[in-house]
Amino acid sequence: MSELTTRMTCPECGHSHDAAMPENACVMEYECPACKAMLKPKQGDCCVFCSYGTVPCPPVQEQWENGQLGVCCSGD
Ligand SMILES: [Zn+2]
Repeated sequence: MSELTTRMTCPECGHSHDAAMPENACVMEYECPACKAMLKPKQGDCCVFCSYGTVPCPPVQEQWENGQLGVCCSGD
């Protein structure tokens, strides 16, 4: 089973909080509830959870379990 809760840390203000992740979707934009900064994935990361969360997003976790490199979205 994939972990569906992550602890997000905002790179702008340092605020951290638990966030629920969709089981099979990429989230490319995430608004910090504290400072309202719009977070985008870092280069090389597939989604905001992989960039700022404590655990990678569920599709990546699944790929890790299958022994694959974790990239949840197709594309570059
Ligand atoms: Zn923030």
